[in-house]
Amino acid sequence: MVESRRPLVVANWKMNKTVGESINFVREFTSSLSQPGSAVEVVLAPPFTALAKVSEALVDTSVGVAAQNCFWETAGAYTGEVSVSMLQELNCQYVLVGHSERRQFFGDTDQTVNRRALAALQGGIRPIVCIGESLAERDAGRTFEVVSRQLAGSLAGLTREFVNDIVIAYEPVWAIGTGRNATADQALQAHAFIRERLTEQFGHPAAHRIRIQYGGSVKPDNAAELLSQPDVDGALVGGASLKVNDFLAIVQHALP
Ligand code: PEP
Repeated sequence: MVESRRPLVVANWKMNKTVGESINFVREFTSSLSQPGSAVEVVLAPPFTALAKVSEALVDTSVGVAAQNCFWETAGAYTGEVSVSMLQELNCQYVLVGHSERRQFFGDTDQTVNRRALAALQGGIRPIVCIGESLAERDAGRTFEVVSRQLAGSLAGLTREFVNDIVIAYEPVWAIGTGRNATADQALQAHAFIRERLTEQFGHPAAHRIRIQYGGSVKPDNAAELLSQPDVDGALVGGASLKVNDFLAIVQHALP
């Protein structure tokens, strides 16, 4: 980890927690967080229904807010979608794009992920671009090919002015919600590969400022090892982010 890359730990609550449950979490979590505004950047991504209240509750704390998706159009007849300006109004600093569950169940492709990411950047919200191979792709020895294709497609047309505002989340699909995390060595290899591809696209200094998070069954007992790998600049945490104590422990393990 180079000094300029502050680890980013994001709680992806997916379709979990009512507004009341979300606010209870925020109260308990922020009152126990022992390193306000310091070495680790911490962000919560609640479901859309809780975004406004969570964002309000996090004012005057060091914890940020992310949405779990956004649409690329600014307004109009797009039932069920949420625009970037709507997220801006709620003070979202980040938005997840291309999570594997969006790709798997809701038809996201590299092209739509790209449109979402570019729209977010234009609207002043930092996209967390999720990529990662399936188990069949890994077993077929295609991990790097898949990651490379997803990266190129999702970041197409990204101009240098925005490079510092993107985050990549490497999330092997076989590790998400399965309890089976990537080994430290698998994470290290994938992250180093992603850094190389980013260097080819954006040049060395810019690529070395981009944070690459690891996601996939991160838990208190594996976080320290995964997060201490070079090029692993934090974590995107699903299941283990739903419990205050587990998420607090993971944040502590992300301290450089
Ligand atoms: C995720 O949803 O991004 C994720 C990594 O989930 P989990 O931590 O539950 O594997």
